[in-house]
Amino acid sequence: MSDIETKAIRLQAKRSHNREHSVPLYLTSSFTYESAEQARAVFADEEPGNIYSRFSNPNVDELVEKMCYLEKAEDGFAFATGMSAVFTSMASLLSAGDHVLAGRAVFGSTHQLLTSILPRWGITHSYADANKPEDWEALITPQTKMILVETPSNPGLELIDLEFLGELKRKHNLLLVVDNCFATPILQTPIDFGADLVVHSATKYIDGQGRVLGGMVVGKAELIKEIRFFSRHTGPALSPFNAWVLSKSLETLSLRIDKHCENALKLAQTLEGNPALEVVNYPFLPSYPQYELAKKQMKQGGGIVTFVVKGGYEAATRFIDSLKLATITSNLGDTRTIVTHPASTTHSKLSAEEKAATGISEGLIRVSVGLESLQDIIEDIEQALAKV
Ligand SMILES: *Cc1c(COP(=O)(O)O)cnc(C)c1O
Repeated sequence: MSDIETKAIRLQAKRSHNREHSVPLYLTSSFTYESAEQARAVFADEEPGNIYSRFSNPNVDELVEKMCYLEKAEDGFAFATGMSAVFTSMASLLSAGDHVLAGRAVFGSTHQLLTSILPRWGITHSYADANKPEDWEALITPQTKMILVETPSNPGLELIDLEFLGELKRKHNLLLVVDNCFATPILQTPIDFGADLVVHSATKYIDGQGRVLGGMVVGKAELIKEIRFFSRHTGPALSPFNAWVLSKSLETLSLRIDKHCENALKLAQTLEGNPALEVVNYPFLPSYPQYELAKKQMKQGGGIVTFVVKGGYEAATRFIDSLKLATITSNLGDTRTIVTHPASTTHSKLSAEEKAATGISEGLIRVSVGLESLQDIIEDIEQALAKV
């Protein structure tokens, strides 16, 4: 652990002749050469070096190097958004006729990719339920090439057993791709269980202050090679400025995640039994249905708590409108506590059946527990619940 904390702070792009302590911003579209011959050699891959910031940039490379270290990955590529990372991990490795086996509770836009966009190119999918591992194997066909999961899921906080998936993917020779956005490498490293690629929306905990968008894919070098080729020519590159912000943020990731988890656990414990609530969900609450699995594969429970307010949509909106400190917005992983009503916002495009299947009821509230004083967070949520 201490090694990870040190690397997240100390891995840095090579110092310039100015001897700066903190890494400078390399806001440049392209890079120069000493001679026509050097330009030729760099383009021909005979000499290492940056060419163009759509391919690589020192700020982006620093971020990728740190994330590879944290996720125990061989190589990686950084993207403009989490969705470009999710999309490219599929588009660059799959072809017409291929099939993806996905956990049912995936991020809203990932669901749109699987159901509306990739089918136009002949890529199909099946959904499997996180809590029914016995069903997964029967959904694998000769066309299946990839397993794609999110654990914990957004917003249902459903966990999928990574050890089980590692065995399944080895048995059937499939690629295992894990969206590790909610846990971050501080709480779980899917590569330990056999994941081939780990995907991140860096917009969330990696930035941690709700400022910039970003995405990452890290994993096996041979797969990243394909992803890099695809990305070089399709252009989802992360901007150097955003990479600079995100790399700085990684310096405090471990500290922030510890505090997010501590606040979230205490909030969940306090809210359990509140008369306005049907249920409180947090992976490290002993009452949580997947508590044992959470303890097995995560170091702590994460920074997201969800609960279901009695009285459905009306009660949920009255609760949200009564908040004084927490912000109404759709981001998460911020220093500021954020409250979201998934059914009417982030997951409003899902049909009633899809919402039911992924546990998104009208009373469901997602709280991204921030780093304000815990007492202030609890007081705000309790006073708003008292008005329901
Ligand atoms: C937010 C999110 C994404 C998409 O990331 P963007 O940076 O918003 O494009 C993907 N997966 C999960 C689990 C997310 O929470």
